[in-house]
Amino acid sequence: MGWFDLLWKRSQHYVLKLSRKLDSRRNYQVGCFPMSKKITRKELLNILKTVKDPELNADLVSLGMIKEISVSEQKVVIEVELTTPACPLKERIRQDIISAINQIGFNQSVEITFSSRVRSSFTSEQPYLKGVKNVIVIASNKGGVGKSLVAANVATALSRMGARVGLLDADVYGPNIPQLFGMDGHQARAMQGRIEPLEINLGGKYPLKLMSIGFLLPERDAPVIWRAPIVNKLMREFFQNVPWGELDYLVIDMPPGTGDIQLNVVQLIPHASTVFVTTPSDVALADVNKGIAMFQRTGTPVIGIIENMSYFVCPNCSTKHHIFSKEGAERIKEKFGMKIMGKIPLDLSLREISDKGYPIVVKDPNHEVSKILVEIARQIADAVSVLAVKRESQRAVNGRSFVQLPLKSSD
Ligand code: ADP
Repeated sequence: MGWFDLLWKRSQHYVLKLSRKLDSRRNYQVGCFPMSKKITRKELLNILKTVKDPELNADLVSLGMIKEISVSEQKVVIEVELTTPACPLKERIRQDIISAINQIGFNQSVEITFSSRVRSSFTSEQPYLKGVKNVIVIASNKGGVGKSLVAANVATALSRMGARVGLLDADVYGPNIPQLFGMDGHQARAMQGRIEPLEINLGGKYPLKLMSIGFLLPERDAPVIWRAPIVNKLMREFFQNVPWGELDYLVIDMPPGTGDIQLNVVQLIPHASTVFVTTPSDVALADVNKGIAMFQRTGTPVIGIIENMSYFVCPNCSTKHHIFSKEGAERIKEKFGMKIMGKIPLDLSLREISDKGYPIVVKDPNHEVSKILVEIARQIADAVSVLAVKRESQRAVNGRSFVQLPLKSSD
């Protein structure tokens, strides 16, 4: 072999070696393995550690949201445990997992399933509502703004999504909940000194539990002329002596205003999350300002605002009319930095269906207003679960360590 042949062979050897080295480095840099390799459990877990919950900005593994993974020759199955069955970000989480996995190559198919475990907002032993994980207060500063209608539909929507839900009509001076569910004239039963909630099946996994002063009064139109101390006592009874059982959410339809009764409720359940319902008119907004300030002063988180009777769409020409003014919710959002959970139009069939005793989300789920109300329920559940997970992360739960998520003083 001559000099030239030797040199040629040697250079070929080095080129081959270098290209192998580069190849292996390329695989290493994308953190994985060649296309034909099967992914392992550990590798999958590492990929999932790069996928973040969009709201909590922490990864799914640290948040304890990866409930199960199974890896076989053909298939990878990932079970994600959401913090609410009403999670509006389910599809986004699915897509984020798929795109994280797609960045690497392997030849098993991927299946993502979802389950849910609603986290509790209560940080310590609670004297009231022992089996209840979260309380959602629907408040307003005025009567007639649609607070009861919103409470009824939000509770129904959450129930239909598979959550265990109760609805307490605390609006003792104008209890509309029995009528909104077509249950006027129904009476609650007392069992061993406790008042049983009524149950109604609305197509969810669990029945919706209802309690109202309306189920305790002898007749529908009997006036309630009670002073605040009596009403406060009744509220305590509702919290202590109604066997609500295990609930993911107790929705409370509050009496309008921010007086002694409202203060009493938020003091009894300081970890309730409040949502304000208002119309966009200036007069209503001035009152809502006061209401939110009062709730915040007591340390109760106000998680958002719902603008009802926001606009009216003319059935003839489809023009949008802002009858009660425009962008009121935006002004509240700017001032308090809170989320607008949704805007509900003034709608004739909503009024008719509600007054006949049906939540519109059940009677006409494809109606535009039903879709808005379902989305509002999702937004509320989402905000509540963010708060609950943040609180949970601040304490040790069952010996598991969680990431520390920042809590604002109002949380
Ligand atoms: P609140 O609890 O604030 O006193 P309600 O929920 O009882 O108010 O609503 C008052 C009336 O207004 C009811 O007849 C209800 O059906 C009607 N209503 C509420 N919101 C709307 C809306 N967006 N469009 C049409 N009617 C509505």
